[in-house]
Formats: sequence, C-alpha cells, structure tokens
Amino acid sequence: MPNKSNQHQGHSTNRKPAYNKNQVQKGDTLIYALGGLGEVGKNMYCYEYENEICIVDCGVLFPGDELLGVDYVIPDYHHLIRMNKKRKFLVITHGHEDHIGGIPFLLKQVQIDAIYAPRFAKALILKKLSEHKGLEKTPIIEIDENSSIKTRYFTVGFFNTIHSIPDSLGVLITTPNGSIVHTGDFKFDLTPVGTNADYQKMAYIGVMQPDLLMADSTNAGVEEFSISEKDVASEILEIMRNAKHRMIIATFASNVYRVNQIIEAALRCGRKIAVFGRSMENVVDIARKMGVIKIKNSQILSPEELSRTPDNEVCIICTGSQGEPLAALSRIASGTHRYIHLKPSDTVVFSSSPIPGNASSINKIIDKLFRSGATVLSKSVLNNLHTTGHASREEQKLMLQLIRPRYFMPIHGEYKMLMQHRQTAIDTGMPPENIFVCANGDILILRDHEIIQSDWRYQGDDIYVDGNDISGLSTAVLKDRRILADNGLVAVIIAIDSKENKILSRPIIVSRGFVFIKDSQALIKEAEFIVGASLQEKMKEKTTFSEIKNCIRSTLEPFLYKKTHRNPIVIPVILNSKQTMEEITKKRAAHDRSKKPYRRKENKDNKNKEAQ
Ligand SMILES: [Zn+2]
Ligand SMILES: [Zn+2]
Repeated sequence: MPNKSNQHQGHSTNRKPAYNKNQVQKGDTLIYALGGLGEVGKNMYCYEYENEICIVDCGVLFPGDELLGVDYVIPDYHHLIRMNKKRKFLVITHGHEDHIGGIPFLLKQVQIDAIYAPRFAKALILKKLSEHKGLEKTPIIEIDENSSIKTRYFTVGFFNTIHSIPDSLGVLITTPNGSIVHTGDFKFDLTPVGTNADYQKMAYIGVMQPDLLMADSTNAGVEEFSISEKDVASEILEIMRNAKHRMIIATFASNVYRVNQIIEAALRCGRKIAVFGRSMENVVDIARKMGVIKIKNSQILSPEELSRTPDNEVCIICTGSQGEPLAALSRIASGTHRYIHLKPSDTVVFSSSPIPGNASSINKIIDKLFRSGATVLSKSVLNNLHTTGHASREEQKLMLQLIRPRYFMPIHGEYKMLMQHRQTAIDTGMPPENIFVCANGDILILRDHEIIQSDWRYQGDDIYVDGNDISGLSTAVLKDRRILADNGLVAVIIAIDSKENKILSRPIIVSRGFVFIKDSQALIKEAEFIVGASLQEKMKEKTTFSEIKNCIRSTLEPFLYKKTHRNPIVIPVILNSKQTMEEITKKRAAHDRSKKPYRRKENKDNKNKEAQ
C-alpha cells in the first residue's frame, strides 16, 4: 500500500534532511524501460512493486551496419538478475521480434515464473525456444482480450488492438498505487482485415481514468490517418488480375495479415503459391496451423513443381523487401537463386516501404530487377501497395482521447518520435508537466495516483549478441572490427631463440585487407627490413616477449602510416622455433614463384607458436 504519510514532512525544519519527493520509497510502484526508449526495437518495460516485477515484452533490436558482425542488440538484463529474489512474470503484447526476440536470452539469465502471450505470439515463442536447449521449462500461458492475470499486487487485463500481426493486445496494469495502460504496437483501421480493436473497452477504461498511458510512438511524425489494410488488399488483387505472367511479391514476413492478403488474392486469380525465405516459410507454416492463412497443400508449389507450372498460375512470395543481401529476392535479382530465374515477363511487387537506411540496398535490387526486363512495382504516393502497422498522429490522438490518462509517457520510438508524440499529447490538452519523455533505465515513480520522475536510474545499456554469445561483445572487439574493416591487418612473424636471446631469421610480413601485396612488394620488403633492424637492436640485451611485441608495433605502425596513411592492426607472431620459421620461409618462397595468393597453413600442433 502507498505509504508516504510518516515520511512526509511538509514543513521540515532546517536540522532534519529535507523530504525528497523524487526518492524511491517503500510502497512505490516503479515504472521503467530496459529497452524501447530512444530506439525502435528491444522493447522491455517493467512495473515493479515490492517483491513483484511485471515485465511487458522482451525484444531484440537489429543492428545497423556500424555494428560489424553483431547479430542482435538486447537490453542489459543486469538489473533483473540482481532482482532474482523477486517474483517476475513476462507479458507479451504480440509476436514481433522487437517484442519477443530477446526471450531466449532473458530466460538464460533471469528466473521468470511464467510467460503470458497471445495465441500467435505463443506459437512463435515456442518455435523460437525449440531452437535453444533447456529453455522449455518456463510455462507459456495463452492469453486473450478476456484474460486477467492476478498476482499478489498486480492485476493485468487486456484489450484487442489492430496491428500487422494477429493477436495484438493492449495491456491494463493495476497496481496498489494506480493503473497504467500500455498500448503495445497499434494502429486504428476502420475496415481492418483481422480482429477489430476493442473501442468500447478502451473507452470504458477511459471512463475509469487510468493514471498513466504508455503508447506506441513509431509514426508520431506521420500526419494523416493511415491507409486501411483493405485498400492494400484490393490494390494487390488488381495487380494480380492484370498480370498476364508470373508474379513475384516481396513483403515483410512479420506482416502476417499482408502475407495472407497476397495469398488470398493469388488464389482468387487461380494462381498457386510458392514461398521462399526462411522467415516467410516459418510464418506461413505457423499461420496455417493457427488457421490465419487458409490454403490447401495442393495450392502450394514445391520448388520442383514451380518450373512445371505455367507462369500465369504462379505467385511467388518471398523475403527481401528491405534489400537484405542474403534474402530470397536479392538472390533472385542477382541470378543466383537456385529455383527462380527472372524472365522479362515477370511482375515483381514490393508490398512494403523502405525502412530508413535501407533505401540504397533496395534501389540496387530494383535496378537489377529492371535490367532483367521485369516489370517492377513498389510503394509510391500513387498506389496503396503498403500500409504501416503503427498509428499516425491522428490515430495517436484517438488513443489519447479514448484512454484519457492523467499522465502520459510516449514509448516505442526514437527520441524524435517520442518528442513528436509528446507534442501530439499537448495538442489534445495534456499539460506538458504531466508528460514524461524518458530514456532506457529512467525510473518513474507511481505513488498514490501521482507520477514523479525519480532522481535515481537503473542501467539501460545495450548488449551486443554475437552468434549465441550473450556475455555481451565488448566494445573493444567492435573497435577492432571497425579498424579491420577500414585499415586491414598486418601480421609480423619472427622466429627467436629465447634462451640465446637471438633472432633466428628476418621478419616476414603478411597482410589482409591492407595493401595489395603484389603491387606493394617494395613497401613490404622495406617494412620487414626496418622491423628486423630495430629487433636486432632490441635483442642486444635480455628482453621479454611483450617487449619484442611492443618493439615491432612501435616500429611498424608509424612507418606504415607514413607510407600509406593507414593504421592497420599490427599483430606480432613470435615463433620460438627455428624449424617452423624455416617451413614458413620455404612456403612463402614457393608461393612467390607460383604467384598464387599466399596463405599460411594453420599448424595446430605447433606448441611453440605464441601469437596474439
Ligand atoms: Zn509490432
Ligand atoms: Zn514493435
């Protein structure tokens, strides 16, 4: 229960420390995000009261090009790990990766009592967890708009929202200090293709005056009411009818309703379906099992059947609408797809719009498609080939008007989007001081129906996931990858006799991604000579391996920079064996004669090798 009376000192004397309203007190409900604020991705919002934490969503963020080799970005779960004594349950709003993608990583580190997820999301989570061993123990409980989760301190209820994937829920969280509405991802569409939004329920929640609304900000910068998914459906049907030959349609696999629309349109035009791309195959598979996509086995073409089917009876649905280099469409465009070879009679449709940052890779693919002679159609102001799954400004106003909260916190968006959403709320009459634009880790205190920004915050950092390693790729590794990408690598191999403190042969330099060796023989020879000379000098007195390495680096780095204006990573490899060095010298001589690319063979048995 809220308990502030005994600590509250309205007229504090000078001797006693002043009552600090912004300090977290026992009995407060804490509201904070570990991901999702200042970014579109890795959504994770926490509601904490006493020994219970209700977590809403657990997503990943897909990294940009600057994070070389990083597969996902996830929130730093350390706060939750530290809170391991508290009871934690996870509520999922819908099955998109930015809301469920982090679950395997979370479960590996944090004790979660139960996961509550709507039907479609549950199927996707189960599929995801089946790929990781030992994570099946956590119960996943199916919820819908009529469910209610009751714990000691929380009551969680739901309402249907419209989004691009079936079973998307908004959440109403009641805590001893007041209630919070969390919209999840939503839009309003008055002619929706799937489940309708629970307008009445939202209005009813509004009548009860919830304390805080947390709402999706993704499209806070978009003015008009978004296009209805129904309009997209009729546009696709029209194109499908008019196309005389083969149809190839690329869209987001995550947009399950769209995939379904495309399939329905194709079937109506007497076409059969071929599905390409792992995520697309996955989603179609799950959506068929759930009854969201209704298609008979006989209407699906295997890759082999594809070539035997007349072109005007074929519709190919594939991934790659964002120009992803490994996706099906990219391989089709490059002519490297195993089953699909473009024909000038093909019609290729992008039922998507470019995510900012992907435009240039998409344009490259469109260019290749045009070169093949195919007809290419993509989203423009002239057509309705795509619509968003997120509320525009007008729809955000409608949500604010339905829920009528006392306080507002824009979520799910980059800082600009959060600020635009803030302005939208002000336009609807919300007092600016009642709006909180927060960062990951910031804590809001809900205390007796009042929201206060805490002066304390939790860690809200990013963790980079490299493959399945969740220990968090260090920034040092990324820094190295960036240097490697920009400047390349130079390895200096020397052989010494450490007992005698002698160099056994002159240094050999090999490089990757630095200079074209064949054209830079003189540079490499000179570098080898300089390193050799300074090592001779160094070895006149007793020295250590690390001193030798430092000597190599401090000689070579300035020399290479002076000659090439590049700072490659210099890796000294010291061999404490004359024999190995001789082998390398021999191989290199043989290579020089054959003029083949030089590759040093890895010698795993070489115990004397000391590399770093
Ligand atoms: Zn979503
Ligand atoms: Zn989302």
